[in-house]
Amino acid sequence: MTTDMRRKLVAGNWKMHGLSSDLAEIAVIAAASKRLPAVDVALCVPAVLVERAARAVPGFAIGGQDVHHAEQGAHTGNVSARMLLDAGAVLTIVGHSERRDAHRESDEEVRAKAETALACGLAVILCVGEPLEIREAGAAVQTVLAQLDGSLPRSLAGRPPLAVAYEPIWAIGTGKIPTGEEIAAMHAAIRKHIDDHYSDAGAAVRILYGGSVKGSNAPEIFAIADVDGALVGGASLKATDFLPIVEAAAAR
Ligand code: PEP
Repeated sequence: MTTDMRRKLVAGNWKMHGLSSDLAEIAVIAAASKRLPAVDVALCVPAVLVERAARAVPGFAIGGQDVHHAEQGAHTGNVSARMLLDAGAVLTIVGHSERRDAHRESDEEVRAKAETALACGLAVILCVGEPLEIREAGAAVQTVLAQLDGSLPRSLAGRPPLAVAYEPIWAIGTGKIPTGEEIAAMHAAIRKHIDDHYSDAGAAVRILYGGSVKGSNAPEIFAIADVDGALVGGASLKATDFLPIVEAAAAR
């Protein structure tokens, strides 16, 4: 997955949805995305679907949703970065809040996953985001910056692209989204943190917003400064829901 300097990226996260009968939906999304070259589009599908999806839509970016931090070994049930690559993936999500929560993934583990994936040649979308009580306590920015401190890969030199997805946990799958001001303030803080962390190399790191993005709210979200795209869950499952989001990104 190549990146022009912060061209918009719209990535779908299919989570634990998707069977071979859904490959036709991926084909529709891939064909329509090809007609919108101003935006990068990707679908992160269940690991067992990666190979068939990648074969079905050559040239379209198919990704995984997680990788193990080790390159190989005695890790029953896990999937390695090289396995994803071998199956045809070009990117992976790491540190999604559903994994941080259900699998107790620490920042340190997320960093190790990101570093292994990048070293193996996968682009990475690294997720961060605060729970509602932290937002209500006024500590969202400091919490997300601490997550970044703990989980950003140490170096990007010679690696595939990294994107950071800001996903407030309380906005995922709920239909609620932060205000435009809240998104702008968070993305500006993340941008500064990334620029400080990586100096010049940080300019290529895209910052995606994720959490209840839909065709109806995408145009206003993409108009916010420092929003370089979106990570989309529920609305990525159907081409009719996902493509309006891709079109909104292409229109910026
Ligand atoms: C997600 O889980 O990454 C996500 C953004 O979900 P949704 O779009 O359904 O809120």
